[in-house]
Amino acid sequence: MVDEAALIQAALDVRRNSYSPYSRFAVGAALWTVDGSIVAGCNVENGSFPLSVCAERAAVATAIGLGHRQFMAVAIVAGDDPVTPCGGCRQVLLEFGDMDVICVSARDCHRVSRYRLRDLLPHAFDLEELR
Ligand SMILES: [Zn+2]
Repeated sequence: MVDEAALIQAALDVRRNSYSPYSRFAVGAALWTVDGSIVAGCNVENGSFPLSVCAERAAVATAIGLGHRQFMAVAIVAGDDPVTPCGGCRQVLLEFGDMDVICVSARDCHRVSRYRLRDLLPHAFDLEELR
């Protein structure tokens, strides 16, 4: 069972460390692993813009490095209104299975939009084609 309040708090906390001097759009993301751990990441921008990393992918990279491979949910905190992950992050998250996507306003953490990842990425690149 996902502790949604703890997951959102982790995303809110890590968002404070966002390195986003160009867009000034700070994002925090936190993953709930199948064993009940929380792994968080923030966006890291770069002066060479394409090298910037989204918070969701930063969280995934950290989680994989810690040995996690399956996630039940991801919480994303950003913006005045809840924002959904970009297309690239949707595909990266889906690599590790379908999950709940909890999008939370950074201005008012009671404003929440919930989705299933597969619903956000219909007709996704099918990983089964590679196996
Ligand atoms: Zn992204």
